[in-house]
Amino acid sequence: MIQVAEALNIIAENSCKMPIAKIKVSKSLGYVLAEAVYSPINMPPFRQSAMDGYAFTHGDLTQFEVVSTSQAGDFLDEKIQQNQAVRIFTGAFVPDDTDTVVMQEHTTRTDNLLQIEKMPAACANVREKGEQIKKGELVFDVNTVITPAAIGFLACLGITKIKVYEKPKVAILVTGNELVPVGNKLPKGKIYESNSLMIEAALQTIGIKKTTVFKVKDSLKKTIKAVESCLAHFDVVLISGGISVGDYDYVKEALLKNGVTELFYKINQKPGKPLFFGTKENKIVFALPGNPASSLTCFYVYAFPALKKMMGFEAIHLPEMKKKINTDFKNTSGKTLFLKALYGDEKVTVLESQSSAMLNTFAVANGLIVIPHDITHVRANEEVVVLPFN
Ligand code: AMP
Ligand code: MG
Repeated sequence: MIQVAEALNIIAENSCKMPIAKIKVSKSLGYVLAEAVYSPINMPPFRQSAMDGYAFTHGDLTQFEVVSTSQAGDFLDEKIQQNQAVRIFTGAFVPDDTDTVVMQEHTTRTDNLLQIEKMPAACANVREKGEQIKKGELVFDVNTVITPAAIGFLACLGITKIKVYEKPKVAILVTGNELVPVGNKLPKGKIYESNSLMIEAALQTIGIKKTTVFKVKDSLKKTIKAVESCLAHFDVVLISGGISVGDYDYVKEALLKNGVTELFYKINQKPGKPLFFGTKENKIVFALPGNPASSLTCFYVYAFPALKKMMGFEAIHLPEMKKKINTDFKNTSGKTLFLKALYGDEKVTVLESQSSAMLNTFAVANGLIVIPHDITHVRANEEVVVLPFN
């Protein structure tokens, strides 16, 4: 049995980045750049008006003759004299002979005669060519996470494809004779299968939208076959249940029979002690405990960083926050505890039921308090580490 920190190190060291793929910018939300991106153009590509108004050459004059119009999208290639101005609109090309735009609210106009009532500073209201980014400059460094704004920025530079780390293909394999798919009648002795839906949903929060769920009865032979087929077709295999010490827990044996290298089994923690982590070539396998709250805790604390590492993220763990716990808490277990909790701006509350079999409190929690294995007593108002997950 190992400690939490050791388990996290082993996972970080043994989860490999996915291969690189060139994908459409329009489909790249949540991916991580595998290669730096440089701008192919100046942005703006030409001097652009930042206002609806008039373009002119700044000097001593306050009166101008309006000789042309430059609408957004136009390219006005005309000679403009010192005493002339151009009617111009936001985003439009600023003619080369002019240097300043006055907003229309600061002018009066009679026919083609323009009077500037409030003179702007020289070069005001003109977005310089390349003001946002110049041709050849760095747009994003490697490892940048693609956000909606990043997609917008890439698109405005005319970039259509980028190189990213692929997202891993994930299989969820649920084990258990007692499990009935939701939507069916519940025979005596059975329960509804919920872990696969929960883990699928948790995967979606890190941008893994497509997963494939397999189900297997508690049979060694069938489990070996199911594991074999998951390993053949997926980068990550998340198994639920069958990893404890019961007579019908066949997962560990099935993994070893399939050539999976065990990197750890069992962590000094509660919930989720019987977590298994292994690899086969570049593929990783987590056998998550079947108890739903243990399963999800292990997913957030261990599978989540592994997946993020594979996807190219630099910050892979759940972010850590410090909050003041609002009651005394004793930890006599000698184990690291992950407590379902609700945090606010300053404080964090330990929720009532901490059973690993129950999801009722997890379902309303927004974080996990971490009480390290060697801390026996936390006093009310002491700061504790909270891992937010929603
Ligand atoms: P196991 O680890 O297989 O011994 O399962 C531990 C507990 O979790 C048992 O009460 C199981 O019925 C329950 N369990 C296992 N897998 C699932 C699942 N996919 N959905 C809901 N409960 C499960
Ligand atoms: Mg079971």
